[in-house]
Amino acid sequence: MILSRLASCLISRKSKKGLLERLDEGVVIGDGSFVVTLERRGYVLAGTSTPEAAVQHPDAVRQLHREYLRAGADVMQTFSFNSADDKLIVTGVYEEVINCSTINTAACDIARQVASEGDALVAGSVSPVQSFMDSKGKDVVMTEFEKQVNVFTEKNVDFLLGEFFGYVQEAEWAIEAMKQVSLPVACSMKIGLMGDMAGISPQECAVRMAKAGADVIGINCLFDPFICLETMKMMKDALDEAGLVCHLMAQPVGWHTTELRDDVRGYQALPEYPLAMEPRLLTRTDARTFARAAYNLGIRYIGGCCGFEPYHIRAIAEELAAERGKRPPGQDKSANYTLLAKSLAKEQRKRASRKYWEDLIPATGRTKMKILTEIKE
Ligand SMILES: [Zn+2]
Repeated sequence: MILSRLASCLISRKSKKGLLERLDEGVVIGDGSFVVTLERRGYVLAGTSTPEAAVQHPDAVRQLHREYLRAGADVMQTFSFNSADDKLIVTGVYEEVINCSTINTAACDIARQVASEGDALVAGSVSPVQSFMDSKGKDVVMTEFEKQVNVFTEKNVDFLLGEFFGYVQEAEWAIEAMKQVSLPVACSMKIGLMGDMAGISPQECAVRMAKAGADVIGINCLFDPFICLETMKMMKDALDEAGLVCHLMAQPVGWHTTELRDDVRGYQALPEYPLAMEPRLLTRTDARTFARAAYNLGIRYIGGCCGFEPYHIRAIAEELAAERGKRPPGQDKSANYTLLAKSLAKEQRKRASRKYWEDLIPATGRTKMKILTEIKE
């Protein structure tokens, strides 16, 4: 029984198309928020963004993967954010049984299990390392990256995804470490319109990541979909001008961050972070608008980061259903406009159209609500 299950698993994995093949043919939908969503569910310490839940609460991580799969995600990204040993020591999470090796191993097993329940790929998620911030030199930094990559290679992930890099130099070193194994390499930085933390422009970041050899480049986290796409346009134009060809990806946050156009720090600089971000949440219509705009810009790996809930990913999958030739599994229960016509309430039946939701300007229901906030240093 176990052998036959293993055999069918191996066959289905072999028949799966890889990341680059899928991107050449059409759209790949990523998953969404993990640390933020698991914090809300009681499995992550607020504000720390650490991944020990992969070891301590595997069922919670597995459930969230399943929700993204049901929402239409094509990628199960291992929940291994901030799992570098030097980062775990700084965040106070490191223990004998909670380290880069144990977290990445557990995260891979969970992601693979859920990916095999559908047609999803497993991405080994490589994170920034503390040694870079502490200027310990390239050799030490590379060792921390290689420890992460080694587990992903042993666990046969489908591709590697380095993300959340604030400095393009660290992204280049991560790409170098990931390129040492023969897997597709994606890399995204946490940048907005102002570029990286050293003031290097988005255009230069894009060109340098492409020249370092990443197959897919882009942006994740810190900024809302609209700042993200404006920045991605700058990056795409620079790649075109330099004659560099690679796939593009965008996984922004699921909140509106209009105030952060000129701030490299991103959403964590907002006074509402981490416990009062809800009023900023994207609607499903916002997520659909983002997906369409990203697609029109030529981005083919489209997902979300912090704040992007499974229903936002489902909205993306619904928006791009025609381009993908399939609908998300969860659409059978989804409101996707027309299903509201089945509502028992007359008022809701009147809302069974795309136009109603696109025309709607949502209210907060609060009498004391700022439109924009003051960001202090
Ligand atoms: Zn994020």
